[in-house]
Amino acid sequence: PFPKPVDRESVENVLRPFIVKDEDYIRIMDLMLENFNKGLHKVTNKDAPVKMFPTYVRAVPDGTEEGDYLALDLGGTNFRVLLINLKGQEVNMDSKIYLIPQSIMLGTGEQLFDHIADCISKFMVSHKLGGKKLPLGFTFSFPCRQEGLDKAILTTWTKGFKCEGVEGEDIVRLLHEAIKRRGDMAVDCLAVINDTVGALMSCAHSDRQCAIGLILGTGTNACYIERLENVELANVEAEDGPNEMLINTEWGAFGDDGCLDFVRTEYDRHVDKHSLNPGLQIYEKMISGMYMGEIVRLVLVKLVKHSLLFGGEGSELLSQRGRFYTKYVSEIESDVDDGFKNTKQVFEELEIYKSTEEDCRIVQHVCSLISSRAAYLASAGIACILNKMDRPEVTVAVDGSLYRFHPHFHDLMMEKTQQLVKPGMKFKLMLSHDGSGKGAALVAAVAHRLR
Ligand code: ADP
Repeated sequence: PFPKPVDRESVENVLRPFIVKDEDYIRIMDLMLENFNKGLHKVTNKDAPVKMFPTYVRAVPDGTEEGDYLALDLGGTNFRVLLINLKGQEVNMDSKIYLIPQSIMLGTGEQLFDHIADCISKFMVSHKLGGKKLPLGFTFSFPCRQEGLDKAILTTWTKGFKCEGVEGEDIVRLLHEAIKRRGDMAVDCLAVINDTVGALMSCAHSDRQCAIGLILGTGTNACYIERLENVELANVEAEDGPNEMLINTEWGAFGDDGCLDFVRTEYDRHVDKHSLNPGLQIYEKMISGMYMGEIVRLVLVKLVKHSLLFGGEGSELLSQRGRFYTKYVSEIESDVDDGFKNTKQVFEELEIYKSTEEDCRIVQHVCSLISSRAAYLASAGIACILNKMDRPEVTVAVDGSLYRFHPHFHDLMMEKTQQLVKPGMKFKLMLSHDGSGKGAALVAAVAHRLR
């Protein structure tokens, strides 16, 4: 028996809220600019959702950086220690991943930093670095209010970390104290950065036009080069060095004041309501890898409920929160021929055994609408920064698995950003490699040079 054809119009009606009009993207850019300015100004920063943290990074590498540097990378799933040798354009790197046990992630700050110092010590021994005093750059990707390049006060733990006695404290001091407690090595932490700054620095090493760093992974965030006269929150004098500073926007929090409500769907609200941080990181929740799969899942469940998909019969797994991974979106959208090989594979993983070609087409269409919206929203943010910087030519360094692995994210962003920037402006989106390690070493090197 032939399956009854699905009423396409009813499907489109369910999906319509995900189609954002061009004029709405322009409004989003205007709102983003308002938020940036609110965050930058001393008086309004306190109540601003987008924090625009000064990073105290003022010079991008000029390719003359040399020497051995240590780098630490904490803030994703792994903790890494790296040894990086810089010699002009040549960069050699050796790194090791160390596990941070759950008990330490949820223990005390002292335990965490003792563990980190222990890993550094083991790394130094295995790389025969004993006795050497090495400058260190620390990629610490949690929101920090910095008071200097080597002074970063953690505002709140995120991403599964909750160590007592660290929020409100300077993490460089905690690291140095732990190293001192051991007394068996000489390490000097010169700089703390986050992953957006790492991506930018790493790319700037070979591309002088690089002026924006963008992360599209578990979360989303961006940094850019701002004129020093606009950086009211930092404690520096223009005479001390370059006339600019990188700003860590922490743009994931855009919309936390409700300004994006006009484009949010019932599915976005549902994801937010059931998250660990309701009401917070609204822009991030419409874009990044931690949430995209779940938005798709909620729409699929709705379509099944209205008998518009899988003949009205889903599966137990499809109805479980978090079971539709964002990598599925990439896999499904990678099906180009008519076989729907990946799509059917995903259905099987979700224990959905009865599906038609039309089901495949609908699911692919849902994925593509939701990932395009994410790419376009991120484009509005990038176009806003490009227009604000007003340089003729800019390279954007991008890192994160969503950008890296989604088959169309790059192209979608190029197309929409081009549409939204001032006429004549040139830009590139460039995948950044090893930003967290190489970037931290480069910042430490620049700091070392300027000392
Ligand atoms: P982090 O941002 O924590 O440093 P990643 O850049 O690897 O780490 O991002 C992890 C996020 O990327 C997860 O939310 C995951 O769902 C998403 N992700 C992983 N693989 C893919 C993929 N193939 N396509 C799209 N998203 C992916």
